[in-house]
Amino acid sequence: MKKIVILGSTGSIGRSTLEVLRNLGPDYAVHALAARSQIETLAGQVREWAPRRVAVPDCETLTRLRRELPDASAELSCGEEALERLARDPEAGVVVNALVGGAGLRATIAALEAGKVVALANKESIVMAGRLVAETAARHGGTVLPVDSEHSAVHQCLRGEDPARIGCLLLTASGGPFLRREADSFARVTPEEALRHPNWLMGPKITVDSATLMNKGLEVIEAHYLFDLPPEKIGVVIHPQSVVHSLVEFVDGSLKAQLSLPDMRIPIQYALTYPDRLPARFVATDLVRIGALEFEEPDLGRFPCLELAYEALRRGEGYPAVLSTANEIAVEAFLQGDLAFDRIPWLIEQAMDACRPGTMNDLESVLLLDDWTRKFCVRLLQR
Ligand code: MG
Repeated sequence: MKKIVILGSTGSIGRSTLEVLRNLGPDYAVHALAARSQIETLAGQVREWAPRRVAVPDCETLTRLRRELPDASAELSCGEEALERLARDPEAGVVVNALVGGAGLRATIAALEAGKVVALANKESIVMAGRLVAETAARHGGTVLPVDSEHSAVHQCLRGEDPARIGCLLLTASGGPFLRREADSFARVTPEEALRHPNWLMGPKITVDSATLMNKGLEVIEAHYLFDLPPEKIGVVIHPQSVVHSLVEFVDGSLKAQLSLPDMRIPIQYALTYPDRLPARFVATDLVRIGALEFEEPDLGRFPCLELAYEALRRGEGYPAVLSTANEIAVEAFLQGDLAFDRIPWLIEQAMDACRPGTMNDLESVLLLDDWTRKFCVRLLQR
């Protein structure tokens, strides 16, 4: 039996993971759950799935959880270390990291140090500390399996292929809600408009990232580290239907792609059952009904965040971490009405120009840089 740990179980990926486990049946068990918010939802999950261990980020939340679960048999704990303990749990077979933002990095490193298979939805882990994540996995026998739909697609296309024969990767992007919107109206974009994604139902942070195309920028960086390819071999193409989840072009001119209607349960199940594939009826991808698949060039003038991500890779180690953290602060400020939508790339650029990152050989240096970036951005926003 495969025992699954889900970090971030109440978010969109966490809930989809539980649906996948319902489909997979008794060969898979929920061993542990952790969540930062939506404690009633978490309590409901604990009642339904009876995990052995449950963790929340702080003791106040733990008190609320205990009140919801007066006779739970699960071991309940709190604190950041509690989340890391779940990630390292000796019985865990797969650790699903679906935490949001830079907060997921410690858990990724902890799980890899314990030699776990990490089904990684927290792309910020790889963006902030790509080399450290890869080296930690290699040193301790851990594995990262991408849950991001694009990287899952690439992973599937590369099975049985020689990495030396890759010409380039093409990551697809839906283009988000503002694909056709005039740039001169971006200053007036409201959080409600940015949170309305045309194809995917996701959490607020990633939905805003999709509207600025920063999500694709982060995914370019993620692909760079996951598949060990230079930025010039990673392209982005706008594909409004979100049916082709990404492509690999090989040196002989052949392209391979993975297709399905957009549904995160497919990449999640792929990561949980890898290297096997198990039956599922999540969506029926009817190509005749879909009819047309379109592709177009991304408009870097209207969506500077994508170019900033390439720039971070070109400037070198540490810059992707600064980009990711500055973006996190910018998105939070935008959602709270403290920063205009068109100023999100401005804040990130300011942080990238001001930072002086050194080498990122350990978790501490990444966390220090993260802390510097947070403080820099908050100070700039308060001016
Ligand atoms: Mg994605």
